[in-house]
Amino acid sequence: MRVTAKKANEIIEEAVGADAQPIVEFLKGKKNISEFVIGEKTKTEIHIVRNILYRLHNHNLAEYKRKKDSKKGYYISYWTFNQKALKDVSTRLQKSKLHKLQERLEREEKNAGCFFLCANTCTRLDFEQGTANEFKCPECGSLMTQQDNTRTIAFLREQIKEIESVAE
Ligand SMILES: [Zn+2]
Repeated sequence: MRVTAKKANEIIEEAVGADAQPIVEFLKGKKNISEFVIGEKTKTEIHIVRNILYRLHNHNLAEYKRKKDSKKGYYISYWTFNQKALKDVSTRLQKSKLHKLQERLEREEKNAGCFFLCANTCTRLDFEQGTANEFKCPECGSLMTQQDNTRTIAFLREQIKEIESVAE
């Protein structure tokens, strides 16, 4: 899989958050940039800059070095965006998405045709939960109706297939 610029943005947004985008854009193609320079150039407050940088670092998307500033007398961190980690982050995101979908599918299949939906669509319960609530909505008290989840199952299978095909 090649990581295009568009794909890179999607990965960063999903893993770290959209607020990291301006900082990543600024760091691209640069090396060892002072956290204060990043703040200044992206017009972002230093505590927010640090928060975003540490989030990037948690995903191995940014590396830093600390150096004592001889004039100011305190440590400053210098940051480099780690483009190479994007692929791994993407794989991890896909795996976790796949895992969640598979768990959902398993639950849907185990309760095929046995889901219960509130008439006001506040809640959706499986058979066990429905029985425990005497088939009344725990939110609004309406009687719940049995729901055919065939389409939900088909939809989940489709999504799983799609992710698996991209992962190859
Ligand atoms: Zn309800």
